[in-house]
Amino acid sequence: MGNRYESVIGLEIHAELSTKSKLFCDCEVMFGTAPNAQTCPICLGMPGVLPVLNERAISFAIRAALAMNCEIATFSKFDRKNYFYPDLPKGYQISQKHYPLAKNGYVDFEFSGTIHRVHIHQIHLEEEAAKLVHADVTGNPSQSYVDFNRAGVPLLEIVSEPDLNSPEEAVAYWRSVKEILEYIDVSDCNMEEGNFRCDANLSLRMVDSEELGTRTELKNKNSFQHVMTALKFEQKRQAMILDEGGQVEQNTILFDLNTGKTSPMRSKEEAHDYRYFPEPDLVPFEANVEEIEQIKSLLPEAPFDRRKRFVKDYGISASDAIILTETRYMADLFDETTRLCGDPKASSNWIIGDLTGLLNSEGIEIQDSRITPVQLSKLIMLINDKTISGKIAKQVIADVFKTGKSPEEIVKQKGLSQITDESEIDAIVNQVVEAHSGPVQDYRNGTKKALGFLVGQVMKATKGKANPQLVNQLLTRKLDG
Ligand code: ADP
Ligand code: MG
Ligand code: ZN
Repeated sequence: MGNRYESVIGLEIHAELSTKSKLFCDCEVMFGTAPNAQTCPICLGMPGVLPVLNERAISFAIRAALAMNCEIATFSKFDRKNYFYPDLPKGYQISQKHYPLAKNGYVDFEFSGTIHRVHIHQIHLEEEAAKLVHADVTGNPSQSYVDFNRAGVPLLEIVSEPDLNSPEEAVAYWRSVKEILEYIDVSDCNMEEGNFRCDANLSLRMVDSEELGTRTELKNKNSFQHVMTALKFEQKRQAMILDEGGQVEQNTILFDLNTGKTSPMRSKEEAHDYRYFPEPDLVPFEANVEEIEQIKSLLPEAPFDRRKRFVKDYGISASDAIILTETRYMADLFDETTRLCGDPKASSNWIIGDLTGLLNSEGIEIQDSRITPVQLSKLIMLINDKTISGKIAKQVIADVFKTGKSPEEIVKQKGLSQITDESEIDAIVNQVVEAHSGPVQDYRNGTKKALGFLVGQVMKATKGKANPQLVNQLLTRKLDG
């Protein structure tokens, strides 16, 4: 795309809330069970049943809305959004339109070295639809099935203002929303399981123009890569239409990741008239100010703020701060380890380096590992007070990781304490010098790098336990003297 046009993008992000039960019935929310095992007349959409609102879903939604700096509505209620689709047999989805739960928020995030702010138009709750499975279950590839386990799961919709200007920026924003929801523990945000997805709206306008162009909507993107590719494709398609003097039609665009092709799905005029009307079976709810304040007071520090603090208070590099805050668990581990040992740099290095290496090689998540802040800080203190060398510490952390034992216990059991006793090291230095007359001669003839070999021999003889500075010092003294 040339630079005649500026892209304007707004996202509608959908996140399933991780409540125990569904939004309007007490069926359990659980992924991967037998099709239609978690259903009842309410979530199957039978006529004449009465939905009962799950209070926990409301408090999760308020928590999310507060984390994204929204105003919580004092009065909100549900509407019926009418449309027919096999995944919605009752013919309407219970959603919010006119009185959403929250409005006017914003999300700050880093993007290409600067801080960007995307405004949130509104956040509302709705019920998830059932899932259509087009599969060859009975040997007949043309069969479609409906699985109602997903129907009625609480779904949070986060509607942004059209504040984004590139596919990359859109993805960065989407990522930070994911991070926020994970931090506050209201959604698993599992994209593979389809419980975190987004619709992306894109339009182009002439650079310098204030007016928004006509947008198209890319539905149900469930990976960062997918939305990126689809938006880039759509940018080109719209630019081509505009270049030829044509007009973009306000359509929903289907994008096939495999073929890279797009096709208009439906035209806005006919399909988007949902004829919302009030849901008569659910009473409106009025926000309880004390409860909101309570939820607010329990919000953890936002990932964005946390990164800033790590850089400012601990002198951690911006890129390391991003890694350390990837999950709340890791950020907590870093914070607590640093508090205990007083050495942020070492805490960061051990977490990003060896610990992450161990997690990767075992294929486990940090929250499932046995390393505690107490253990990690102890390990760092053992290095800092010279009880063990950095090299030995690598063995120790691997052991802690495997056994869950304390670093002191491992050091003691395996006799890993550093040898700092001069006479003990000196005796080994003498042996090494005697055994390697060649390198000794080389060193004395001016090949100073032979020293490295001799230090290595002493370290080997002590199984890495000799204090390296001391070895260096004693060897040089011996060779020079
Ligand atoms: P609808 O109810 O039809 O989905 P909305 O007005 O709620 O439409 O907007 C949906 C999303 O589209 C929002 O995220 C909004 O930011 C985005 N959007 C609206 N107008 C434009 C535009 N001209 N270009 C790009 N995105 C837009
Ligand atoms: Mg929409
Ligand atoms: Zn149910």
